[in-house]
Amino acid sequence: MPDKKRRLIIVSNRLPLSLKKTDSGSYESSLSSGGLVTALSGISSSTNVRWFGWPGTNVEDEEERKTAQKALNDKDAVGIFLDEKLAHAHYNEFSNGIAWPILHYHSGVSFNEDAWKAYQKVNTIFADTVAASIQDGDLVWVHDYHLLLFPQYLRERLEAAGKKRVPIGFTLHTPFPAEDFWRALPVQKELLRGVLACDLVGFHTDEYKRNFIECCSRGLELEVKDGHGHDPEVEGGCDEIVYGGQTVHTGTFIVGIDPQKFMDGLQGEGVRARVDELEDMYKRKIVILGVDRLDYTKGLVQKLQGYEHFLAEHPELKSRVTLIQVAIPSREDVKEYQELEKELSQLVGKITGEHSTPDGSPIVYMHHSVPFTDLTALYRIADVCLITSRRDGMNLVAAEYVACQKDRYGVLVLSELAGAAAFMGKGSITFNPSSAQQLSDAVYQAATMGVEEKKRRYEELEEFVTTNTSAKWGETFTNVLWGFAKED
Ligand code: UDP
Repeated sequence: MPDKKRRLIIVSNRLPLSLKKTDSGSYESSLSSGGLVTALSGISSSTNVRWFGWPGTNVEDEEERKTAQKALNDKDAVGIFLDEKLAHAHYNEFSNGIAWPILHYHSGVSFNEDAWKAYQKVNTIFADTVAASIQDGDLVWVHDYHLLLFPQYLRERLEAAGKKRVPIGFTLHTPFPAEDFWRALPVQKELLRGVLACDLVGFHTDEYKRNFIECCSRGLELEVKDGHGHDPEVEGGCDEIVYGGQTVHTGTFIVGIDPQKFMDGLQGEGVRARVDELEDMYKRKIVILGVDRLDYTKGLVQKLQGYEHFLAEHPELKSRVTLIQVAIPSREDVKEYQELEKELSQLVGKITGEHSTPDGSPIVYMHHSVPFTDLTALYRIADVCLITSRRDGMNLVAAEYVACQKDRYGVLVLSELAGAAAFMGKGSITFNPSSAQQLSDAVYQAATMGVEEKKRRYEELEEFVTTNTSAKWGETFTNVLWGFAKED
C-alpha cells in the first residue's frame, strides 16, 4: 500500500492543547508546542496522526463533552474525559505520588490501594476509548508513566476484536530505577507486564533500558537476548525480551529539541530587544541561569545550598555573579511540592539577606513561568546554565540553552545524574549535586573559564544538539515500530 498514509495513534495522559469554553457555550482548542509535537513534525508527510488524552479541562456533563469533542476534532485529537475525583487519584495520588518518586529513586513512598485502583481504572478507560477507534494496521505510540498498564489492556481488547496487526510502542520519559529500588513497589510486576504487551519500549538512556531489562529478567524471570547491532537505526541496537511467546524490543532513543525554533526565536524583533535590555542590565555580571519545574527531582534545594557555599567560598565574586532561577510552578495540589516551595522561598530569603550588597542581590528568584521571549533572551544572555537534577529522565533545558548560545559559548554545568549527562557530559562540567563543594567548584570553574576552552566545549555540545533533534527522535522511533507491523 505505497500511496496510503500510515495512521499513527499517540496516547498520552494529557493532550498537547488547551481547551476553552467560549461565551456562546461552545469550545475552542489551541495546540501547544512541546517536545512530542515537534517530534511529529518530521513524520507528518507520511503519516496521519490522531492523539488521545485528557484535554486539560474538566467537563462533567455528557452533552458538553460532545461539544468539546467537536473542537478537538479540528486538531485530530480525541478527549478522554474523566470524573474529577478519579482523575485526581490517578494523576496526583498514584502517578505523581507513587510512580514518579519510585522512578526517580525517591524513598519514603507509601503505597495506597485506592490510588492503585484509580490508576487501573483510568488505564482501562483509556484502553476502551482507544481500542474502539483503532483499525488493523495502525501504529500506536504510548507515552509515559501515567499509562504503564495501558499497553496490556489495549492488546487484550485488540486481540478480542481480531485486530492482530497493530504494533504498540511505549516511551518512558523518566528514568527507570535499578531493580533493588523498583521491587519495593508492591505492584511492580503488574506494571512490567503492562508495558511488556508492547512491540517496542524506548528509554532515554542505556542505563534506564538496562535497569528495565534487569527488572523483567529478575522480577518476572524472563529470557533476555542481547540484540546488539540488530537494528542499525537504534543506538546500540535493540535488546529483546521474550514474554508470553512474543518478543518485546527495547532500545535507547535520544530525545532532543527543535534547535531551529530557538535559533529563529533569537532572530525575532521582540527577543532581540529583550536580549539588549537584559544585557545592559547585567553588563557587569556573570549570569548563572537555572530553569526548572519546581520539583524535588530537580535538586533546587541543593542548588541554592551549593550556590550559598560558592558565595561564601568566593567573596571576591559575590557582587559579580547573579543566579537567575526560574522555578516553574508544578503539581501544586501535592503537599510535598507545597512544602518544597516554602523551603525554597526561605533559602532565597537567607541568601538575599546574607549576601546582598549595595550593588544588588546575588539571586533573582521567579516562582512563575516566563514567556518564550523572556526564556530565549535569558538563555542567550546567561554565561552559565546550572542544572542540579538529582534524577531526571533527560532534561531538555540543557539542550535549549545550548541552542541559544551560538558564537557565545556559554558553559553548561550539568548534574551527572540527569539523563542528558549520558550524552552531553563531555562538553559540560559535570558534578554530583548532593555535594555543595562539587557544585561550588563546578560553578567557579565555569565562571572563570577562558574563551578557548569554552569554545571547545561548546562546539561539542552544539554538535550533539543540532544532530539529535526531536524530529529525528520521532522519525526513528516510529520507523523502528513500523518495522514490527505484521503482514496480512
Ligand atoms: N519551560 C516552561 N515554562 C517556563 C520555562 C521553561 O514550560 O516558564 C519549559 C522549558 O523550555 C523546557 C521544559 O519547560 O522545555 C522543561 O523540560 P525539562 O526536560 O528540562 O524538564 P521536565 O519539566 O520535563 O521535567
